[in-house]
Amino acid sequence: MGNITLRKVNKSFGATQVIPGIDLNIEDGEFVVFVGPSGCGKSTLLRLIAGLEDTTSGRIEIDGRDVTGAAPAKRGLAMVFQSYALYPHMSVRNNIAFPLKMAKLDHGTIDKKVTEAARVLNLTNYLDRRPGQLSGGQRQRVAIGRAIVREPSAFLFDEPLSNLDAALRGTMRLEISELHHQLQTTMIYVTHDQVEAMTMADKIVVLNAGNIEQVGSPLDLYHRPDNLFVAGFIGSPR
Ligand code: ADP
Ligand code: MG
Repeated sequence: MGNITLRKVNKSFGATQVIPGIDLNIEDGEFVVFVGPSGCGKSTLLRLIAGLEDTTSGRIEIDGRDVTGAAPAKRGLAMVFQSYALYPHMSVRNNIAFPLKMAKLDHGTIDKKVTEAARVLNLTNYLDRRPGQLSGGQRQRVAIGRAIVREPSAFLFDEPLSNLDAALRGTMRLEISELHHQLQTTMIYVTHDQVEAMTMADKIVVLNAGNIEQVGSPLDLYHRPDNLFVAGFIGSPR
């Protein structure tokens, strides 16, 4: 499962309204990209879904369950942070195992899940290294591994590749798409990069100052943009 529904979700910081009350449905298994210029509210929207921010008003449902106000740990989602959020003093194995140790799973189960995640992510031979002994792409895969072991109903990514160089970004883009293909789990991916949006998404949500300008497939947005903002944004890669 991994169906996520937003109903009139509004977020204000003090007097400043960042998300004006939006409706959105994300289907189970979809790869959804939130795209839009810096400051348009992409991270805020993702954090609202993750439960890292409270909604000012409106409802968030996951698989039909109202999770508005529920703690992040109760939502069954996994946020993938950028690779620099790894623990530098811990081995790859312990970085990936960390959420399972926090959840107090037994050693055998933890070992099995870490081994399987490492297999999927091609990290089997790197489990005893520290993050500092890995390439940027491998570090990003460890960060993803830490999410995979929790078997979430959806993965949430906030600009996971923005610190990588252009060549590596291209490789990781393919790896994340391949991972989605393998796992068939809902993924919500935030980026300000039109190329990432167009190449990775099943469904793109174009945001502009907290408003949804258009929701559609890459082909929809390219061939049938609803307005000039969408046309300009999709049509003009950085
Ligand atoms: P994006 O991820 O698209 O760059 P953000 O969601 O980070 O945009 O920010 C959207 C707007 O909300 C920005 O104007 C930002 O300054 C504001 N904002 C984000 N977080 C906070 C906060 N904790 N307090 C006040 N304003 C915030
Ligand atoms: Mg952001």
